[in-house]
Amino acid sequence: MAEIIKIGENTWSFEDGFVRFFLLAGDEKAVMIDSGMNCPDALEQAKNLTDKPIMLLNTHGDGDHTSATSSFTEIYIHPEDYVKCDVCNRYPGTALHEIADGDVIDLGNRPLKIIHIPGHTAGSVAILDVKNRVLIAGDSVQKGHIYMFGDKRDPEKYEASLDKLIAMKDEYDTIYASHDVREIPADHVEKVKAAWQKVRAGEVPFEMADLFGNQVKSYTTEDCGFYII
Ligand SMILES: [Zn+2]
Repeated sequence: MAEIIKIGENTWSFEDGFVRFFLLAGDEKAVMIDSGMNCPDALEQAKNLTDKPIMLLNTHGDGDHTSATSSFTEIYIHPEDYVKCDVCNRYPGTALHEIADGDVIDLGNRPLKIIHIPGHTAGSVAILDVKNRVLIAGDSVQKGHIYMFGDKRDPEKYEASLDKLIAMKDEYDTIYASHDVREIPADHVEKVKAAWQKVRAGEVPFEMADLFGNQVKSYTTEDCGFYII
């Protein structure tokens, strides 16, 4: 059961204590963007907020973003994250829709643009709520620690994806993050990129941390952090 906060017109944040996800409604349809780590009833909660049909759109396939996947019949996810979305694989009757860079999903007078930002995972996407000038960037941009350890992470592509978001910064004012502070200004992407470059150049000290049994290096900068093996 997530705590629900109304953060804009027809826009809600679901807070499950560790991860955050969102419900956006337009004139015709609604979309849940991710479904948290321990919220199998997220769709039921969302139905109390909107009478529009609700589909699921995943920023990526990590397990802490997909807990209610099986309760949806229409799921939008980038194909490169299908394999990680094992809930989808377990429910083959679910309609999976491939999303690609540049796609526009219109909720009815509320277009959402898909931006492919590989790096955190191969199929990570950001979602631009065009008219509201909001970017929902999954785990890739935040003030907290960004998980960049394990096989599925790609440091080079991650940096290129940050550049891609910086290049379109005129299109959004605010970023909604999945972890840590919810609403952050658009220029935070540049700070994350600068921090990432410093970490990769060995300019940031680290501490060892135990993360779900993984020994990882924890880097903390004033703008965000990273976990890397
Ligand atoms: Zn993730």
